[in-house]
Amino acid sequence: MRVYISADMEGVAGVVTGDQLVPEGFEYAQAREQMTREVLAAVEAVLAAGAEEVVVSDSHGNGQNLVPALLPPQVTLVRSWPRPRGMMSGLETGEFACAFLMGYHASASNPAGTLAHTMSSRALIELRINGRPASEALLSAAMAGELGCPVALVTGDDVFLEEVSDVLPAAEKVQTKVAFGMFSARCRPPAEVVADIAEHARRAMTRLGEFAPLRLEAPLQVELCLKSRLAVEYASYLPGVTRTGAHSFRFEAADAASLDAQLSFFLNYRPDL
Ligand SMILES: [Zn+2]
Repeated sequence: MRVYISADMEGVAGVVTGDQLVPEGFEYAQAREQMTREVLAAVEAVLAAGAEEVVVSDSHGNGQNLVPALLPPQVTLVRSWPRPRGMMSGLETGEFACAFLMGYHASASNPAGTLAHTMSSRALIELRINGRPASEALLSAAMAGELGCPVALVTGDDVFLEEVSDVLPAAEKVQTKVAFGMFSARCRPPAEVVADIAEHARRAMTRLGEFAPLRLEAPLQVELCLKSRLAVEYASYLPGVTRTGAHSFRFEAADAASLDAQLSFFLNYRPDL
């Protein structure tokens, strides 16, 4: 049995500002250590429950936040970008009993939530899929669902857990903090969060039959709203793209994995690199 973990950082215990999210920032070293501790707690719980291998994708920032030396030999680690399937890269390497989305956060469309954004706070105002605001968690869960893999555990702040509850109602949930705003939260003690993650990961492994893979109606009808008018203007030159406003355009995606690849392009393409 194999288990997949997608690890982000905004929803990790104690993380509240942009400084903690980047290698040159204040308290980044502590934040990546706590992120690693939380993932490790989940890894140890699923190994104890019978998993032989855990694929972990480091899905935040530079994709090199988790400390590899602290992870046991049963873990293979997906690092850095760009990569197919983005935050769920490596999920295509075979069968997984379930996926965990850890350290996730509320979407760009949510007025609340600490460090809320979708994929790029620099570039993206809103992502809508099939007429509804979409989050990174939704996209990750849909990419897993397309491969028949259900999400069994999610961790993050209270706003994120509330937001994700209608798409992943059965998943085990661990609240790491209570959001006050974009850069503030009432944070639970980090060690307590780690213990809670171990407990809920263990419980998730006893409930595997209760989680259903998330499936979105395909092809996906996507609407993207970007900060840059110029990026939207260039996007509108592509076949299949219809500009819907000064900052928005729509297109179809065959499935969530294709959408992730298209978003990688729209949010990151730099011909000068
Ligand atoms: Zn992140």
